[in-house]
Amino acid sequence: MSAAGSTDFPHAVASIIASGDELVLGQKLDTNSQCIADRLVSHGLQVREHVTVPDDQAALVEALRRAAATSQLVIVTGGLGPTADDLTRQALAELLGENLVMDEDALRTLEGWFTSRGRTMPPGNRVQAMRPASARMLTNEHGTAPGLHAVCEGRCDLYCLPGPPREMIPLLEREVMGHLRVAPALACRTQAIHTFGRGESDVAALLADLMDRARHPLVGTTASLGVVSVRIRASGPSAEALIAQTAAEVRRRLGPVVLDGEHLAAEVITRLRAAGRTVGTVESCTGGMLGQFITEVPGASDVFAGGLVTYANEQKVALAGVPKHILDREGAVSRACAVAMAEGGRERLGTDHALSITGIAGPDGGTPGKPVGTVWIALASGGAPTDARRFLFRGSRSAIRTWSGMSALAMLRLRLIGADMRLLNQQE
Ligand code: AMP
Ligand code: MG
Repeated sequence: MSAAGSTDFPHAVASIIASGDELVLGQKLDTNSQCIADRLVSHGLQVREHVTVPDDQAALVEALRRAAATSQLVIVTGGLGPTADDLTRQALAELLGENLVMDEDALRTLEGWFTSRGRTMPPGNRVQAMRPASARMLTNEHGTAPGLHAVCEGRCDLYCLPGPPREMIPLLEREVMGHLRVAPALACRTQAIHTFGRGESDVAALLADLMDRARHPLVGTTASLGVVSVRIRASGPSAEALIAQTAAEVRRRLGPVVLDGEHLAAEVITRLRAAGRTVGTVESCTGGMLGQFITEVPGASDVFAGGLVTYANEQKVALAGVPKHILDREGAVSRACAVAMAEGGRERLGTDHALSITGIAGPDGGTPGKPVGTVWIALASGGAPTDARRFLFRGSRSAIRTWSGMSALAMLRLRLIGADMRLLNQQE
């Protein structure tokens, strides 16, 4: 392949290549590709693929050749260091069919980088000032490895960026994001709708016809710790309108489980603040996790009074005022105990709402009647009967605790929007 000067072909499809033995061997996570894809997608590009290759020139050239044949934008990260296993510039030169030449400006900048730190440049670093003849250096202010930009056959921009994220990100922003040429007619748009309360298969069943892989816009779901997200993607000049139509239909079908944004706790806090209401927590098996979810949101102090961590039964009595006979007769993991914790907590914390959580997070402590994952969550609010629900969560101790905290927030959210709490996947 031969290089050509800068042209103004539009960018529609991008490929991302991460290079490094440490990535292929699974010793280090490729965060660069995720970061780059997220930025490109938010600007309307279609990311065709992420490819991870070892520190091997032939593998790099092959990946570059394939990417350049299908994409108008190729971004490679890693392999621009001074050592024998840094082969990206050599691979780029081979792809372009060019020799590496010394870039005198880059050499001076590189020497200056060392001088300003009171060091002499090791001879091995000289290679970092070399570039394929038609390529351009991208000054790296945060490290010694400049990036490279070349145009392949007048139809593909190739960018090689340094591996360390703190060097890669500023170069991506300055040299790539600022120079994208996304044609509106080719732009790809994505919208995500986040939900909590229904399982992924329930959501998929409600959206079955919309999720046909041949449909445009394309609808897909992903689940992460209870939050089920629906992604809608469309391309072309009417992408925005098509997405809006499908999004309205998704919202109509899923109803009250659709969150305002991505974060359940943030939405609950916003709603409490708008209503001028406060909340407190009384936690057993989550040991303060619910309070942590709430206080992770900046500005939570407007609505969160505080929480009681009543892990031992004595503290359920002493701090939350749970009658001892409830613990003796029904046990700590019971409707009566959850209700008493929420009502006692609400009174003692002086809040409008109080959430309580009591359950068996495992791995031990389950019984046939109350298996591991059994969690009672109650919500006490002024002027409404206390609502208590039994959940059966599956998974690790950590997953059970996280689901518990999230489900408590979801109960409060549904009460705040006046929706039926039976929507939640509880057991009774
Ligand atoms: P390199 O430019 O290949 O010498 O990479 C230098 C360092 O950057 C590596 O040791 C990694 O710690 C980091 N790095 C390289 N590629 C990636 C990547 N794709 N994601 C995250 N970190 C990376
Ligand atoms: Mg490397």
